[in-house]
Amino acid sequence: MKFGIKVKSIETFILCDKLKESFYFSQWEYSERRICIVKITSDSGHVGWGEGYGPAGIIKAGIEHLTPYVLNQNALETETIWGTLYRRTLDFARRGILVSAISAIDVALWDLKGKILQQPVHLLLGGKKRNKIIPYATGMYFTKRENMKEGLCEEAKKYADKGFKAMKMKVGIGIEEDIENVRLLREAIGPKIRLMIDANHAYNLREAVQLAKAVEPYDISWFEEPISPEYYDQYAELRSKTFIPISGGECEYLRFGFQTLLQSKSVDIIQPDICSTGGLTEAKRIGVLASTHGVEIVPHTWGTGIAFAAAAHFISNIDTMPGRLRTPECYIEMDRTENGLRDELTTSSMMNVIDGKITVSDEPGLGFELNEEALHKYAIKENGIPNLPLTEILKHQR
Ligand code: CA
Repeated sequence: MKFGIKVKSIETFILCDKLKESFYFSQWEYSERRICIVKITSDSGHVGWGEGYGPAGIIKAGIEHLTPYVLNQNALETETIWGTLYRRTLDFARRGILVSAISAIDVALWDLKGKILQQPVHLLLGGKKRNKIIPYATGMYFTKRENMKEGLCEEAKKYADKGFKAMKMKVGIGIEEDIENVRLLREAIGPKIRLMIDANHAYNLREAVQLAKAVEPYDISWFEEPISPEYYDQYAELRSKTFIPISGGECEYLRFGFQTLLQSKSVDIIQPDICSTGGLTEAKRIGVLASTHGVEIVPHTWGTGIAFAAAAHFISNIDTMPGRLRTPECYIEMDRTENGLRDELTTSSMMNVIDGKITVSDEPGLGFELNEEALHKYAIKENGIPNLPLTEILKHQR
C-alpha cells in the first residue's frame, strides 16, 4: 500500500442521554445512559469507532492511559497492538475497566482496518457464516408505574407486533412477583415467541432453584445470571436441577475468565460483551474456547450502534457446534429500552428488523455511519462547553 497506515490520533468522547423515564432492574436504577466511545484516525485519513462497556469516565481515562502504546503503530496490526495493551495492563488489571478500555480501542481498530482495506469486519474475521441473525428484544425492565404488570405485557406485545421472534424480561424483584410477571407475560405473547429471563445475579442458589422450577412450565429459553458470577459451583448445581438452560458471562473478562466459566460447567450459553471482554480480537478467541467445550455463545450487547455492529459481525462469523445441514439460528441482543445514543449516534441497515431478522452489513468496517450531529448533541458539557477533543470543537465551529 502506498499510503501510510499508522495510527495518527485517538480521541475519546463521553456521551450522555438523560432519560425521560428512569427504569430499574434487580441491582439499581437507570436515569441516564452514559457511554464512552473512541475515534481512531490513521494517517491515511480513515476513521474507526469503538465503544467501551462500563463506567464511561474510567474507560475514558483508561483509553487515554493506553494511547501512547497505540499511536504510530501499524493500524492493520490489531492483534499485535492488542498484545502490547494486554502486557502493559496485566500487572494492574487482569479484569475490569482497563480491559474495557482495551476493548474500545480494539473495536475501533477493527472498524478502521475494514475502512482502510474497504472490507467488512466479518470478512476480516474469517468470513460470514450467516447473513441473517435473529435479534431478541431486551426490555421489560421494572418501572415505578402503578400498573407495572400491565405495562410489561404491553411492552412485550409491542415487540411481538414489530416482528421480534424472541425477547428477554427482567426478574430478580422477588420470587413470587417474578413468577407472576413471567406467567402474565407468557400469556400475553402466546407460545410461539422465545422468552428469556435475566436476574442480574439477584439470587442465591436456593432462590434460583425455586424460581427456575416455578417458571419451567412457561417455556423459558434461558435463565440469565441467576446467581452472583463469583459462585461457579452454584451455577453448576443449579444447572443440574432445572432443564432451563443457564447463561452468564457478561461480567467475565478475557479468555481466561471464560476458561474458568467453561471448565466449571457453570453455563449452557456464554455471553461475553465484546466491548468489555477484550474486543473483537479476544472475543474471537473466546468463541474458539466455547467451541472446544460445546457451549453456545450469544454476546451480551448494551450501548450504541457501535457495540451492536461489533456483535453482529462477530456473530456472523462464529461456528455453531455441532455442524449439521440445518444450522441452528444465531441470536443477537437488541436493547429496546430508551436510549437516544443508540437511536441517533449511528445509522446502519443492520438495525432494521425484517421478518424477525437483521441482515449483516457488507459495507466496509463495522458497517455504520456515525452521525456527527448526534455526537455533539450528546457529548457531555463542562461549563456549557462540550467535553470534546479540541480538533472536534474546531471542526464543529467551521
Ligand atoms: Ca444481562
